Amino acid sequence: MTADTQTKKTKQAGSHAKRTPKPPKLLRGFRDILPEDSIFWQHAKQTAFSTLLDYGYGEIDTPMLEQTSLFKRTIGEHTDIVSKEMFTFEDKGGDSVTMRPEFTASFARAYVEHGMFNRPQPVKLFSIGPAFRYDRPQAGRFRQFNQINFEIFGNDHPVADAEIIFLSYLICKQLGLDISIHVNSLGTPESREEYVGILKEYFKSKRRLLCEDCKKRLTKNTLRILDCKEEECNQLAQSAPQLVDHLDEESKQHFVAVLEHLDESEVPYELNPYIVRGLDYYNRTAFEIFAKIGEHTEDQSESKPIALGGGGRYDGLVELLGGRETPGVGVAIGIERIIDAIKKLGQKPTSQKKPQVFLAQLGEEATKHAFTLFETLRTAGIRTRANFAKSGLKEQLEHADKLGVLYAVILGQKELLDETVIIRDMENGIQEVVDLAKIAEELKKRLKKGI
Ligand code: AMP
Repeated sequence: MTADTQTKKTKQAGSHAKRTPKPPKLLRGFRDILPEDSIFWQHAKQTAFSTLLDYGYGEIDTPMLEQTSLFKRTIGEHTDIVSKEMFTFEDKGGDSVTMRPEFTASFARAYVEHGMFNRPQPVKLFSIGPAFRYDRPQAGRFRQFNQINFEIFGNDHPVADAEIIFLSYLICKQLGLDISIHVNSLGTPESREEYVGILKEYFKSKRRLLCEDCKKRLTKNTLRILDCKEEECNQLAQSAPQLVDHLDEESKQHFVAVLEHLDESEVPYELNPYIVRGLDYYNRTAFEIFAKIGEHTEDQSESKPIALGGGGRYDGLVELLGGRETPGVGVAIGIERIIDAIKKLGQKPTSQKKPQVFLAQLGEEATKHAFTLFETLRTAGIRTRANFAKSGLKEQLEHADKLGVLYAVILGQKELLDETVIIRDMENGIQEVVDLAKIAEELKKRLKKGI
């Protein structure tokens, strides 16, 4: 090898080292949920899960990936979600597919696809899981977020709307949240169309004062101007004609009946004519849920209410997907927002109960037996921890100490031969030898005494 080729090789190796790609990182708007945070998640999900089961809802798990047309057809082509926020791509077969931006369309598709109209009505379904929107990431807004969704199909009575709102309230209340529900009625598609015409005329005369987004909304999604967050648009919306004044008679009666149910069940609500929801499929009842934070925090910058979720009635949705005429009503509550509110209020769900016993094993043979012994303790209801990868007694006892367990169970070579095991009281260091077969019983006796 000449000196020249040698230098060339070294140079190549050097430049190769420089080109090592950066380690992969989380995508923008996506998050990892670490164990220390997961107690909040479990708390929120389990509260919703058990409440919904108690109220007769069945869990449904629909795929995260659906045909794009499902969302275009139901949510509406001109909505923010469909026009700007969907994770849509072509799969290897050339079909356009979309990561679900919400659950209701999938529920309705599943209702039609599985002939659920043949089941006793109403059909009550719930799902807890992730949804995806390619939105600008910001505080409380992620590209993958999680929702608790529950829906009632096949009941057009106002009591169904009230049940969904009541359960939203109940779940939040059980999570320690102080909430307010803002309700409105969007009427029938016909009365809404008539109202949208009136609204268009109103905003047309004020077009130049609208924000750029609302100028676009004026022709295609006029209702959304009402809940635009821009100050100017907000001001204009305050003096706009209101939907409640243009409701058809039946929708009016329906709305009043929903409110009566809410009054009766003491759900805290307020009427809000600006709640229009961003999706095309809603009719009649529309509502949004806000967590009140202000009164509970010292830092007033943290006091803005948090939008936890929203929902409403969607009587035409199932038909839109080729099913029979089936009324529907439902809600989506954001889990990230719930957790944000819980944390802002300074609450902490009771974490998992502390472990009681640490299983320490010494030597290879004892390690082989450790899983079985661990399982004996676990199935006896004793909260046990172990570190199967360690074999030194000192470090295992240090680990036990850090966990704050009451007893360590020590299984060594000698104990294995004698079919015994050592119980060590972690407080005073006193050790006793007991029969291996009686270990669970012996520990339970001691743990009981300690209570
Ligand atoms: P929507 O269907 O847009 O009304 O959303 C219902 C609820 O889902 C919202 O009130 C939020 O709690 C939650 N949500 C919607 N989009 C996001 C997002 N990008 N990031 C976090 N939570 C969201």
